[in-house]
Amino acid sequence: MRAMVLEAPRAPLKLSDVPEPKPGPNELLVRVSACGVCRTDLQLCEGDVPAHKLPLIPGHQLVGRVEKAAGPFRVGDRVGAGWLASADGSCALCASGRENLCEQARFTGWDTDGGYAQLAVVRADFAFALPEGFDDLSAAPLLCGGVIGYRSLKRAQVKPGERLGLYGFGASASLAIQVARHWGCRVFVATRSKAEQDRARQLGAEWAGAYDEPLPERLDAAVTFAPAAPIVAKALGALAPGATLAINAIHLEGDVSFNYDTLWRERNVVSVANYTRQDARELLELAARIPMVTKRELFPLERANDALAALKAGRISGAAVLTA
Ligand SMILES: [Zn+2]
Ligand SMILES: [Zn+2]
Repeated sequence: MRAMVLEAPRAPLKLSDVPEPKPGPNELLVRVSACGVCRTDLQLCEGDVPAHKLPLIPGHQLVGRVEKAAGPFRVGDRVGAGWLASADGSCALCASGRENLCEQARFTGWDTDGGYAQLAVVRADFAFALPEGFDDLSAAPLLCGGVIGYRSLKRAQVKPGERLGLYGFGASASLAIQVARHWGCRVFVATRSKAEQDRARQLGAEWAGAYDEPLPERLDAAVTFAPAAPIVAKALGALAPGATLAINAIHLEGDVSFNYDTLWRERNVVSVANYTRQDARELLELAARIPMVTKRELFPLERANDALAALKAGRISGAAVLTA
């Protein structure tokens, strides 16, 4: 099968003909029709996030049809798979609904080969049935950007009607804002690009501006999507007393430093790691109900390097998706 393979960090992905993967007893073989391109893939390819195995097929937002059935799925079913490839299901974290933090968790396109390929193996109990109403290309970005954005809102503890700040406005934030607006939140978006500011307003932001512009009000909750320490410090400085800032990043550039006065009065700073299957089911159900709009830019599989370069250069508006 064709796959885009990472052989070494900082080298471009190599279009390769590799053997078809062999699913185990509780695993699906999925013919991939679409795979989202995530900033984490870029960080992996550039070595900022160390690869867990090499060679590696990246990609953790894959949609396709089942070719070898397992668990509740039949041949031909449409399924999706995201970042969480498996967890042990037996540790204290798994038992308390926090499988995203399981020490034995394995991740798609990091510990296991992912969706930058024609076929992928997915554990049946970690695959998702996808609701009707989305085509494959629109469903793919929901599986990482959508779900993690949703978990970030939960971690920021934002409540209906509250003032929410979003810092950075890429694929994940442009999905999260739709959930927040559905909940009746007032949304303030800080992001560098004018085009992203415009898009934020189109999606219901009450205010959108650059990172160094002062916000018109203080925030009850905020999420940073831009993986840079100065932006985290900015967001922290915009919080009202008692508010929570969720940092949505697997890797943050630089060290965060702030004056204690900006944290005092019971402001909270939390991180966001991965997601649980429950988060994904909730988000997929919400996405179908709202219904969420996914803006995507399509690249054929063999142009994955171009998609990553465009993402790095900030030239993707919405989400980049690889097509079979
Ligand atoms: Zn991702
Ligand atoms: Zn566990």
